[in-house]
Amino acid sequence: MQTLENGLKAANAPAAPPAVLMQTDSNAVLLRLLMMGEEARRNQYAGAERQLMPRDLVSTILRAMRMRDPAGLLHSQRMAVISSGVAKLLGWTDEQRRQLEIAAILHEIGKLGIPDHILHKPGKLSSEEYDFVLQHQHAGVNMLQAFHTDPTVISMLTTLHHDLSGSSAHIEVPGQQIDLPLGPRILAVADAYDSLNTVKPYRRGMTHAESISTLLEKSGRRYDESIIRTLNRWYENEGSALFRLTESFYDAERTPEISQEHRDDIALLSQFIGVLCQFQQLYDGYFLLDARENYCIWSDGMPSLTGLPVQHVLRRSWQTTDVLLAPNTEDSVPATERDDTMIVHAMRTGRAHFASRRCRVSGNNFIKADIYTMPIIGPGQKIAGVIQLIRNKSRVSPDDVGKLTRLAMCDSLTGVANRGQLESRLRQMLEEFHAQDGTRSLSVIFLDVDHFKCINDNHGHQVGDQVLIDLARLLQHETYSLEVIGRYGGEEFVIVCPDTDLEAAVRRAERLRTSIMKSSIGGITGLSVTSSFGVATARRIDTVQSLLERADTCLYNAKAAGRNRTCRESELETAATVEPGHSDDDKIRISESNGVFHFSDRVEVSTSLEITAMKLRAFISEHRGVVVDQEKGKMQIRLGTPGFFGHWGKTASRQPVDLSISFETTRNGRSPQEKIRTHRIVTVDMRSQGKVPGMDHFAARCLSLMRDLKAFLQGS
Ligand code: GH3
Ligand code: MG
Ligand code: MG
Repeated sequence: MQTLENGLKAANAPAAPPAVLMQTDSNAVLLRLLMMGEEARRNQYAGAERQLMPRDLVSTILRAMRMRDPAGLLHSQRMAVISSGVAKLLGWTDEQRRQLEIAAILHEIGKLGIPDHILHKPGKLSSEEYDFVLQHQHAGVNMLQAFHTDPTVISMLTTLHHDLSGSSAHIEVPGQQIDLPLGPRILAVADAYDSLNTVKPYRRGMTHAESISTLLEKSGRRYDESIIRTLNRWYENEGSALFRLTESFYDAERTPEISQEHRDDIALLSQFIGVLCQFQQLYDGYFLLDARENYCIWSDGMPSLTGLPVQHVLRRSWQTTDVLLAPNTEDSVPATERDDTMIVHAMRTGRAHFASRRCRVSGNNFIKADIYTMPIIGPGQKIAGVIQLIRNKSRVSPDDVGKLTRLAMCDSLTGVANRGQLESRLRQMLEEFHAQDGTRSLSVIFLDVDHFKCINDNHGHQVGDQVLIDLARLLQHETYSLEVIGRYGGEEFVIVCPDTDLEAAVRRAERLRTSIMKSSIGGITGLSVTSSFGVATARRIDTVQSLLERADTCLYNAKAAGRNRTCRESELETAATVEPGHSDDDKIRISESNGVFHFSDRVEVSTSLEITAMKLRAFISEHRGVVVDQEKGKMQIRLGTPGFFGHWGKTASRQPVDLSISFETTRNGRSPQEKIRTHRIVTVDMRSQGKVPGMDHFAARCLSLMRDLKAFLQGS
């Protein structure tokens, strides 16, 4: 495609990115988007008059739409014909009608980012699916903004899905109520009319008269009555245009040749939409500036965060007063000096910045917000633009069902998927993986913040929380749109990477690890946050649990090997048997002799011998264990029973292990000046019983037991 190639050339990049970024982080995607946007902006002026959108870009988008959803494109074309016909009867100029036609053609652009199973779902969409489609729609319109599409077209598309409330038909813009302009009203009627008219898998198509009367029933609330009547008039005279369009559509070659280049275009467009949709879902508003600080995107959430509607910022450059952010203390004033703003800071330093701020929404009204400002770095470390993302922390609107559904699936602190959601997504992805018969890969990355307890202890829980929030943001920005990030618990996160083999997942993990190390997570000087990573890749027999456990085992090994590192599963056996003498934690051992596996670990506790023994008994009863032997400070326990032939089964109760637990108190002080400390250490030795399928199964079992045991011993 012309535009893409020119976009690349225009950037004059010595190390040009590959033609298609199959998987990439948001920086690379935004960079491509800015490049294409710049090219589109220049091409608009190519002819004698300004175009609404460069022609080759329109045709690329249309081709992509035809390939993804031919029936959908036909619907858009019919909608364009209807809208334009209605507008003509209403006395619109040719230029205005062109805007309307383009808006109609592009009104489902978000579909380009939607996976096939939803796009071609035979039945009606569920409300969540509908919400998902709508989010992509917004993201698609944002992409069009970045392509510098005509602002009138943009604002028609932005308001197209606004519900008209009552006959006055207005849209909410903070501080003012304006009538919904005629353009989106025409589009809404044309859209609904054509949908009713069209045969759907779950509904026969209505006749013209039925469609009109259905629309009239809903007029006033959703549809403008006078437009419905105008449509009726247009149909009587020119409705045959619709039949001609449909006929020629069915006559045309149904399966056009799809070249690799075309596939690449679709992939790229869907990637843009995917990334923008992620921003849309994760933040309440965001905006994108190019290197000259011109607005490229002003997301739908921005008007309610700032009072500025989209048409007030498109085609102009950023001003410090557009988004007013003040420090997080009462009666602080917003920064309006250029040098004090995060935008200028990010542009100058090239560094991303997390901060909590108060954001002025109107007059003297502020909300608490998380602000993430990220420079977009181009070739040669040149700053190509900046994106600022805003998350409103003051508001949870209980009547917003979509948000509530999201809340049920999201971790309330960080906004990423919660454990339940993570596991159910992973389950789906594993099912797909199994269905593909091992021809595609799927990997998981398990990460745990190092010495997080110390961060809490030294800086307080609030800073601890902020670290988790910042970390989740960083992960969201560094991961691809198809990956799933979830908070597994406390300071543990999991990233599920589809179509990623072990090698690639390790590289991903290493990249995340480095990013975490280099970022100013937590926002406190002198606080350096690192994380350890475990990486495992799905096998044919895996369940959600077994896969996660293997990754967790690797993570455990990364901790044992000294933290701030990545351990992969092929290294598991080596890493586990190697004596990690140099590490700061030389207490974990896994070894094997004659088919019996051994594991040992230690836990420091703060409670007395009696309390510890009591907690141990609770642990044993929870796991239905048997105390085989007991003396002061020592216990022998058996957990689980083997299957009939002595083989380990799938569930913990069928994976027997013997534990010997001993308890000791030591006092030490390295030098005479040092305070003498009492250490109460519980040592745990585990030994496998029965026939274990392999070391990693044993390791997973031990680690999960250790985690539980720690919870019992260290919890109150
Ligand atoms: P390691 O390097 O071995 O991972 O050490 P660690 O200190 O990070 O690990 P440990 O599991 O001992 O401590 C985790 C701590 O995380 C304990 C718990 O109080 C804290 N934590 C769990 N959830 C939250 C949370 O939501 N907010 C805050 N601030 N702390 C949390
Ligand atoms: Mg930790
Ligand atoms: Mg932990």
